[in-house]
Amino acid sequence: MFVCGNQACGARWEPDEVQIRNEGQGPVFRCPQCGARNHVEARTARDGTTVYRQVAAKPAAR
Ligand SMILES: [Zn+2]
Repeated sequence: MFVCGNQACGARWEPDEVQIRNEGQGPVFRCPQCGARNHVEARTARDGTTVYRQVAAKPAAR
């Protein structure tokens, strides 16, 4: 279960409801409701499947 990090949104999503992409700073998913980017971490399970875990947003380096 992922939770949108946009506090005004806060929508919850199942992993199969979002599309995870690597936009250059690690894997992220965009909230289907508000479009906010949420960082996730890829882990490979023992059976070889990739599972994603939500992680706190890193401070933006600008
Ligand atoms: Zn959202």
